[in-house]
Amino acid sequence: MPDSDQPEDRRPEWTPPDAGQGFASHVRPGVQDSVSESSDIRGGRRQLTVADYVEGVLVGDRATLARAITLIESNAPAHFDMAQAVLRALLPHTGKALRVGVTGVPGAGKSTLIETLGIMLVERRHRVAVLAVDPSSSVSRGSILGDKTRMQQLSMLPEAFIRPSPTGGMLGGVARKSRETMLLCEAAGFDVVLVETVGTGQSETAVREMVDFFMLVLIAGAGDELQGIKKGIVELADAVVINKADGPNRIAARAARAEYDRVLHFLSPATEGWTTHAYTCSAVTGEGIPELWAVVEDFARVTQDNGSFARRRQRQLRSWLHTLIQEQLERYFYGHPRVRSSLADIEAKVAAGELPAAAAAADLIRRIGLLDGKTD
Ligand code: GDP
Repeated sequence: MPDSDQPEDRRPEWTPPDAGQGFASHVRPGVQDSVSESSDIRGGRRQLTVADYVEGVLVGDRATLARAITLIESNAPAHFDMAQAVLRALLPHTGKALRVGVTGVPGAGKSTLIETLGIMLVERRHRVAVLAVDPSSSVSRGSILGDKTRMQQLSMLPEAFIRPSPTGGMLGGVARKSRETMLLCEAAGFDVVLVETVGTGQSETAVREMVDFFMLVLIAGAGDELQGIKKGIVELADAVVINKADGPNRIAARAARAEYDRVLHFLSPATEGWTTHAYTCSAVTGEGIPELWAVVEDFARVTQDNGSFARRRQRQLRSWLHTLIQEQLERYFYGHPRVRSSLADIEAKVAAGELPAAAAAADLIRRIGLLDGKTD
């Protein structure tokens, strides 16, 4: 970070090394700090310090929480260190929420269910944060979950906080941002975090890795097969919920529930000491929603008693660490000037069969000083 205490004007970072006295550009003190350049903070808003963020989040100030999340979601390298400093200070205040993942194909009724469940939880004096991990938003600009009209009633409640999926970057980056956002929400006093994702096969594992309880929302009548939901995803679930069990659909929903219960019987359990069952509910009428939450609470009790709750969280933290190491090494590698200057050439040689791929990889890695002559 630049030392903005320095009173006189300075040269910008991008000044050419050979620029002489005649080079005209300069930076006024206090302007160069890239954190103040963030789109969130521009427009006359006071720049926050790490302490401001930490205090604001801890007292549950929504505006500060929103800005802290924006800081975490920023892809600017300058924001990374500050965001991490904020997270580090908040870490002792995290971990107390029940983390629940909700997945299912678009149209299954996830957001309606989250709204109905969220309102019920707020009525029961819970504070509910809703986050989304949407793989489509990282690939294209479009989003399966980002519709602003969703969860309108819940979003008006002061005890609820809804944050759409972060955009930009790979799914890994989106998942990291959601995970860190979840920690911020916990530090801000939200005791239930609902993480929504689309059941299309990309992001479920990432969400399973950040929640305690994972529910799969399905509908009946879309055929007896698993509705484009892969068997592997059913195996991740702690509950299979057949939604839209209302009106004429009620009977089909019950039949689907029984069928899924049979399927589940043959699958290995997602959570040690817990048997996954199928349930029916209607997100529109609210029928079955209190019973569904009772299942989540029962799950929390059982797994906290048998220790699998804490073990999963520890496992998640360990695997998160390794994911981050991988991500940061990759970013460092591909961003390194020596890699950038020679990668295209080496790639061409490998493609032409002039250079074995393993030797080329080792050579590139050696160039940035990460390998001491070993190639494995
Ligand atoms: P999502 O894409 O999974 O988030 O699905 P939505 O929550 O947006 O719901 C898709 C459509 O199904 C909407 O038109 C909802 O009103 C409707 N829907 C959601 N839940 C229910 C339900 O329990 N019963 C009925 N009849 N319709 C529902």
